[in-house]
Amino acid sequence: MKKTIKNYRLRGRKVIIRVDFNVPIKDGKIIDDNRIKMSLQTISYAIEKGAKVILMSHLGRVKTEEDKNGKSLNIVSKRLSELLHKDVIFIGSTRGNELECAIDKMCDGDVLLMENTRFEDIDGKRESGNDEELGRYWASLGDIFINDAFATSHRKHASNVGIASHLRSGIGFLIEKELDVFEPILNKPNRPFLVILGGAKVSDKIGVIKNLVKKADYILIGGGMAYTFLKSEGYNIGNSLVDYDSIDFCHNILNKYSTKIILPIDSVNGLEIDDNTIVRTCLVNEIREEEIGLDIGPKTIDLFKKYIDMSKTIIWNGPLGYFEIDKFSNGTKKICEILKNSDSEVIVGGGDTGASVIGFGYKDAYKYISTGGGASLELLEGKKLPGISVIDDKK
Ligand code: AMP
Repeated sequence: MKKTIKNYRLRGRKVIIRVDFNVPIKDGKIIDDNRIKMSLQTISYAIEKGAKVILMSHLGRVKTEEDKNGKSLNIVSKRLSELLHKDVIFIGSTRGNELECAIDKMCDGDVLLMENTRFEDIDGKRESGNDEELGRYWASLGDIFINDAFATSHRKHASNVGIASHLRSGIGFLIEKELDVFEPILNKPNRPFLVILGGAKVSDKIGVIKNLVKKADYILIGGGMAYTFLKSEGYNIGNSLVDYDSIDFCHNILNKYSTKIILPIDSVNGLEIDDNTIVRTCLVNEIREEEIGLDIGPKTIDLFKKYIDMSKTIIWNGPLGYFEIDKFSNGTKKICEILKNSDSEVIVGGGDTGASVIGFGYKDAYKYISTGGGASLELLEGKKLPGISVIDDKK
């Protein structure tokens, strides 16, 4: 068990909180502030307890000076200030005099946000490469470190692993929630335990399939990756997405777990990945040479529903079709609805799945939608996340 923010006395202490403010920004405006909102519980708790709250986050990728344009966290500090109903001190640098003086002047309950941690990535990836000096320097700015950025906790960065290696540390409420959701399911799920996997490439999910095929009762496969599985069984899949390097893996795992892994039985196809393409639905053994399989068909939806209806725990990662195009979003939408009406505990992975589910209006329909795409996948692979492993254990 990891220490949490609640295990520390915070009054008068400089508490560095690594949050995830990596929000989408378009034309200078935040278009989805959910990530800021998800961090409020931990920030508000630290304010209430009288901490001097020092916030750090990355925003996008920064490799060159030009990349800095539009990646300042200044805009986030303004939104955060509105949400907290409180001034937020923004410092437009990641180190140096201005930052250190501002921290020295902080009173109990003040909140300071420093500039995008990835600005340190220009000239040598100091943040993303977990540069020792940078982690030590950032740690020197505070007394306690709290990691609450689940979405980056599968990465070993200076702003999580680096700082935590030099300071007393704990996790915030968001990471605690993610672990509370995933750990019991991965250790002792309520059965039947069903896993639904979709998305583009099998290779991205091999680790998840290997780990969960032993734990789950059934795995339903949809999305682009289903066509590589079908090809491995000798089906003609036309121009559908194929992950050639994964064909042997698919064939072997299907042989070994033939009753556990369930593939689509019909497919919705287009001639191009385009809004205006002609659509044809057919059985998976009828896909034509010129067609691209882009969604699961109605017979597959019915088949998947049978498994969903008999399950007690469900984890879903990866959209079941090319959901960005309306014509191929039906499978993902229907599964959203079926899951909403099921009695089982439904956990949705972050990344594209979380985004599609929220976009289709199912934000509050399930037990939990993870805030981390890559991080939740690595948990499902059975891996330890470095940004969490590094945090102090409860004695
Ligand atoms: P992933 O990041 O692996 O979860 O993949 C998500 C992407 O998979 C989304 O952008 C979907 O459009 C894409 N996808 C889902 N189904 C298909 C399909 N049948 N063919 C090609 N891409 C797909």
